[in-house]
Amino acid sequence: MKLANPDLLKFQNYIDGEWRDAEGTAEVRDPANGELLGKVADGSAADAEAAVAAASAAFPEWSRRTAGERAAVLKRWYQLIMDNSEDLARILTLEQGKPLAEAQGEIIYGASFIEWFAEECRRAYGQTIPSHNPGMRLSTIRQPVGVVTCITPWNFPNAMITRKAAPALAAGCTVVIKPALETPLSALALCRLAEEAGLPKGTINVVTGTDAPGIGRVLTQDPRVAKFTFTGSTAVGKLLMAQCASTVKKMSMELGGNAPFIVFDDADIDTAVKACVATKFRNAGQVCVATNRIYVHESVHDEFVEQLRAEVAALKIGHGTEEGVNMGPMIFRRAVDRVQGLVQDAVAAGAKIEIGGEQLPNGENYFAPTLITGVTDNMRIAQEENFGPIAAVQKFTEEDDVVRRANDTPYGLAAYVMSENIRRANRVVEALEYGMIACNTGVFSTTVAPFGGTKESGIGREGGVEGMAEFYETKYCCFGA
Ligand code: NAD
Repeated sequence: MKLANPDLLKFQNYIDGEWRDAEGTAEVRDPANGELLGKVADGSAADAEAAVAAASAAFPEWSRRTAGERAAVLKRWYQLIMDNSEDLARILTLEQGKPLAEAQGEIIYGASFIEWFAEECRRAYGQTIPSHNPGMRLSTIRQPVGVVTCITPWNFPNAMITRKAAPALAAGCTVVIKPALETPLSALALCRLAEEAGLPKGTINVVTGTDAPGIGRVLTQDPRVAKFTFTGSTAVGKLLMAQCASTVKKMSMELGGNAPFIVFDDADIDTAVKACVATKFRNAGQVCVATNRIYVHESVHDEFVEQLRAEVAALKIGHGTEEGVNMGPMIFRRAVDRVQGLVQDAVAAGAKIEIGGEQLPNGENYFAPTLITGVTDNMRIAQEENFGPIAAVQKFTEEDDVVRRANDTPYGLAAYVMSENIRRANRVVEALEYGMIACNTGVFSTTVAPFGGTKESGIGREGGVEGMAEFYETKYCCFGA
């Protein structure tokens, strides 16, 4: 891999301020062509324990620093990420597959959490509470929770780390991160820059490894850990929540979704189609807030489908580093087989493929951007998070009925509403049981607003003032008369 700053390519774990080998190594490959990118340390539960010990030892000094002192280090980290953004984007594209422009967007988005939380930590205000007893003084102060452990997914290998680590470090916590097996290089490169920025040894640690359950048990059960934060599938999240119960850890869970995308008869169809492409085909559909069920009013269904088909046909597929590519491969073969199975299941139950629906000759991980119509709510493709480039369209006629159908899922992460009628848009936005609603846009994630879900999509929020609050304890202090 050719980089302007080759020092960003790290293959060892980062524990207690040192780059350390593990007992074995694990291969990292380019999902577009299977090329070997390198072999990273295959860390174990023992390495995770060493990282937790280091984070625990580093906590007293880091947490006692003033917010301004912590902010200064974090701002250096932010600046180094921005200065190295092209290399970081290249590493991300090569290990994850998304087009370079998307990877660059993720690096800037990821860095923005560090800058924003560095500023926000100066405002960790407590309260003075009017007393219930004359002469007594009641107040609250906010203090960092302690050691924070993080497990992150492969779909956003940079931003899912900074969205957790930045507010934790800004609050005065120390962190241990286990990135996804498929995308450790982005995590290690981020850590190299954190080291250069001057984060003290032990404040940030990264343990990569194939034994996710073994490492995960340490990160969720070690008594020195105060808080566990996870982004990934609902199934794994439930398992990790149960593990956290043994020591009553605080936890945040960013889990799966099944986003409805509702196009009303009063929608601007151009806007709706563009929003749909943005939420459905970015990162080959491997996005937790990606549209999963597209409900289109019967009176505009054909017009919407025709325009969407044209947009899908125009997408350029290829290696993420090629000029003009809109969509790269999926992360691994298993994911391709899964979406293929969902499409076949839908077709067998009466759905129609308008375009795509098959693997592409580019390589074993490529699946064609696909549009299917005639989908119904009882098909697997509508019930499961498809996490692939499949736009699955169904019709509706009544507002009440589509809201009921949209809410009829155990998930509650993101939903999309397309309507030019402000009364209807307000009504529907309020009635949808989701943590985030986007109206007349397909792109809404930002550093400054709370990201997270209801129901089985998670617990807690990341980003915004809510994202900072997750890493503080509120201490009530009562002074007698
Ligand atoms: P995953 O749950 O398979 O893996 C996520 C992480 O958990 C990885 O680091 C993996 O190594 C680790 N892991 C897996 N099994 C484990 C175990 N038994 N113990 C400890 N760690 C374990 O999810 P994925 O396929 O990497 O990511 C896709 C999922 O993540 C989708 O469901 C998506 O919706 C969700 N996601 C949610 C958000 C959000 O903010 N809500 C963001 C991105 C992705």
